[in-house]
Amino acid sequence: MFVQDVTARKRTEDDLARQVAARTAERDQVWQASSDLLCVASLDGYFVSLNPAWLRTLGWSDAEMKARPFLDLVHPEDVAATVAAAQGLVRGEPQLTFENRYRRKDGDYVWLSWNAVPRDGLIYASVRDVTEIRCQAEALARTEEALRQSQKMEAVGQLTGGLAHDFNNLLAGISGSLELMQTRMGQGRMGDLDRYMTVAQGAAKRAAALTHRLLAFSRRQTLDPKPTNVNRLVTDMEELIRRTVGPSIHLEVVGMASLWPALIDSGQLENALLNLCINARDAMPDGGRITVETANRWIDEAGSRQHDLPPGQYLSVCVTDTGTGMPPDIVDRVFEPFFTTKPTGEGTGLGLSMVYGFARQSEGQVRIYSEVGQGTTVCLYLPRHYGEAGDGDVARRLAEVGRAGQGETVLIVDDEPSVRMLVTEVLEDLGYTAIEAADSVAGVRVLQSNVRIDLLVTDVGLPGGMNGRQMADAGRERRPDLKVLFITGYAENAVLGNGYLSAGMQVLTKPFVLETLATRIRDLIADA
Ligand code: ADP
Ligand code: MG
Repeated sequence: MFVQDVTARKRTEDDLARQVAARTAERDQVWQASSDLLCVASLDGYFVSLNPAWLRTLGWSDAEMKARPFLDLVHPEDVAATVAAAQGLVRGEPQLTFENRYRRKDGDYVWLSWNAVPRDGLIYASVRDVTEIRCQAEALARTEEALRQSQKMEAVGQLTGGLAHDFNNLLAGISGSLELMQTRMGQGRMGDLDRYMTVAQGAAKRAAALTHRLLAFSRRQTLDPKPTNVNRLVTDMEELIRRTVGPSIHLEVVGMASLWPALIDSGQLENALLNLCINARDAMPDGGRITVETANRWIDEAGSRQHDLPPGQYLSVCVTDTGTGMPPDIVDRVFEPFFTTKPTGEGTGLGLSMVYGFARQSEGQVRIYSEVGQGTTVCLYLPRHYGEAGDGDVARRLAEVGRAGQGETVLIVDDEPSVRMLVTEVLEDLGYTAIEAADSVAGVRVLQSNVRIDLLVTDVGLPGGMNGRQMADAGRERRPDLKVLFITGYAENAVLGNGYLSAGMQVLTKPFVLETLATRIRDLIADA
């Protein structure tokens, strides 16, 4: 019996040893064959053990990898984040899907995605080469940007024909009024002047609004999401849409009172709105009606399922036409990129796919309701932004423009004498002392003097070797707190860092209303 016992135990031990060896061999197989990069590293920053996938991916031998701290091979821009992740591991926190770039032996970098856990004083990590995935994502983003751009240009193209004609009409309104004013002045009939002035100003304002919109469209960069007053955006677009769809289509805009603000990229919403209206126009070759309507919406549980949106508060922008409508099988396909039913050369099939992309990216939705022969409604749902829309305040404060404090001085630099004259007059009305300069050389000279300057108002394009931005920067070397208001046309946006200005610097776009100029100046100086 004793002998039998030993035999039995011996057999169990042998079995166990065989099992352990088998498991180890299995694990070794996985370690050797895995296309994932597997490694063990020490908490003081060295690789202890690496599987062969590392050599295949990075080209460094096992010995080369172990010889130096692993931070040595991390891309300089990723070192800080990598150190932070390593500190997390030292504290005992696993680091999952952390990404950084590693230098290969040939000098290129690869993107690695780490799943690392600390255990018994070592780091165990499974790492994946995600370079290709990241490149694809970047290429996709670039393609989307290019599509957005081509879509925008198509929209601009749709506008130009009608616009040239309209512009001439507006110009006629302006020059005609001026002529009449001259005649009446000759006749000593001063009482009529107001009326012509109003007509001319109205026409100038509409012309300015149109160029403004056009330039906003053709601008290249996409903007960031900002709290936006959608009613105002729609109203600002009204003129442009009306001219785009032509006189045979009646356009109606119904903005809900006290509409919530939305957090969106306003340039993209304008683009989307214009595209929806162009589609509506194309669906009504014999004319009809377009209604653009905004509303606040509660999406409850039922609505949430129906609209594929999280429940909550949204605002909607709906474009309704009385056109051909679409059968359901077309509706199902319209968001596909390049899907179009229009003749070659007329449709790109990108309008609705861009609108859809914009809505989803803004965490909203697009819905289509259409009946053949009746018409179509396309609704954009955009999440409510909790807080003020940023643009509403200026108008309110316009009424409250106050007068200047004692001896406050503004330097105005512009090569156009009429602009200098206008600005100087506004400044003096407000009680400021104005100093004028016609170019950047003269401007810099004043800035480097000991004269009191509370604010610099400057054009961006200036003669004298520096642009307005450079002159302001030079001025700030001596006066670090110098406040600056740039007066600029759109084309100069890039000079101003595409809207990324430092504190105390603001931009006012030409042409502007004098009251707005006054408010801006007051605000900048008051904001000490
Ligand atoms: P495109 O306008 O270049 O054809 P879109 O993506 O803007 O591309 O639209 C895709 C298709 O959806 C159109 O070709 C048309 O068949 C259909 N469509 C879009 N809007 C409407 C509408 N308001 N009424 C009828 N059909 C529409
Ligand atoms: Mg379209």
